[in-house]
Amino acid sequence: MARIVQKFGGTSVANMERIRNVARLVKKEIDAGNQVAVVLSAMSGVTNQLVAYCQEANPLYDTAEYDSVVSTGEQVTVGLLAILLQAMGLKARSFAGWQVPIRTDDAHGRARILDIGTEEMIARMDAGEIPVVAGFQGIGTDGRITTLGRGGSDTSAVALAAALQADRCDIYTDVDGVYTTDPRIVPKARKLPRITYEEMLEMASLGAKVLQTRSVEMAMKHRVNLQVLSSFEEIPGTLVCDEEDIVEKEIVSGIAYSRDEAKVTIQGVKDHPGIAAALFGPLAEANINVDMIVQNVSEQGHTDMTFTVPRTDLPRALKVLEQVRNVVDYRDLNHSDTVVKVSVIGVGMRTHAGVAQKMFSALAERGINILVISTSEIKVSVLIEEEYTELALRALHTAYGLDAR
Ligand code: ADP
Ligand code: ASP
Ligand code: MG
Repeated sequence: MARIVQKFGGTSVANMERIRNVARLVKKEIDAGNQVAVVLSAMSGVTNQLVAYCQEANPLYDTAEYDSVVSTGEQVTVGLLAILLQAMGLKARSFAGWQVPIRTDDAHGRARILDIGTEEMIARMDAGEIPVVAGFQGIGTDGRITTLGRGGSDTSAVALAAALQADRCDIYTDVDGVYTTDPRIVPKARKLPRITYEEMLEMASLGAKVLQTRSVEMAMKHRVNLQVLSSFEEIPGTLVCDEEDIVEKEIVSGIAYSRDEAKVTIQGVKDHPGIAAALFGPLAEANINVDMIVQNVSEQGHTDMTFTVPRTDLPRALKVLEQVRNVVDYRDLNHSDTVVKVSVIGVGMRTHAGVAQKMFSALAERGINILVISTSEIKVSVLIEEEYTELALRALHTAYGLDAR
């Protein structure tokens, strides 16, 4: 007997017929003699609609009330699945985050899980019951409902699997695994039978929305056996595992893209020590993450700085930079929110040279201009104009020999 956490995403619970299919997949594990806890998302599109309601009510909404609204989608699906499981003769009970309880900090809209009470869950599973848990939500230390950030039910599932010491955490979604890149953009993308925690973490944090970044962090930390698979086709998915468990290692295993960034350029700043600190300090204080940075060579004691910030933070970043103008004198402040960050990822980069060069020449051959570059041990990222996203992804996918044969 194994203990399994099964998580189903929005498209997998999009309507009654699909929730019925989820009930069938849960029953299959129960019939195989396993203990199962289920985590669900809201029906696809529902969370977006709820977010839109909040924005319509007041763009400067109270984030605790936002959580109260956007957490409701999951409450519908868990109740419906419990009803369907009961109708199949199984014992099932739905749980909102606070009923588990999944305790979080009070950062409404992007809360982090602090701990999970497992006593009741385990007792119920031991008694042959199936807990069906609302993903994406928890309860803050102030006793109010919190949510974990978009895509957060992946994190709910992995955290529950870690707390329950589950043998497996299966993430069912609308693709049959993790691909070399987004299969919806690159038709030649290839399914990876295995991917390392580290690579999956980079892929997720660099934009691959198939798993929420925090869920991978948590899986890595607690060594959760994580699998991504399809709820529509019963075929093997992708296993997220340790590097030692992968026999054939590729130099580059995946390519990710993110449209969540905006570019800011400050022209004509005086080039002397302390400039970067004076510019980036106030941004950090305003809780704005600066990601990629380039500083041009200076001419006559003046230089240009280009960097990226999250697209949603762009208006705030511009305001902060206007305010520092009396301390750091600069000539001009430009910005663009029609950029995309494209990244190639692979643990093989640690031991192989020339990976970045291949990226630069593949993009140059297509006439794609690189605006900013950043690298780390296992990834190279470039910022390009958004209109070239598909062209760049396809060109890089071919250049690194990743195309499906
Ligand atoms: P769910 O609602 O099940 O959580 P998501 O929409 O959050 O599903 O995540 C699945 C989507 O992630 C896929 O439909 C796919 O378009 C996208 N995706 C992006 N990058 C990848 C990748 N490398 N491999 C697989 N899917 C990817
Ligand atoms: N329903 C939430 C969202 O759309 C959580 C999730 O699907 O993971 O972001
Ligand atoms: Mg998701």
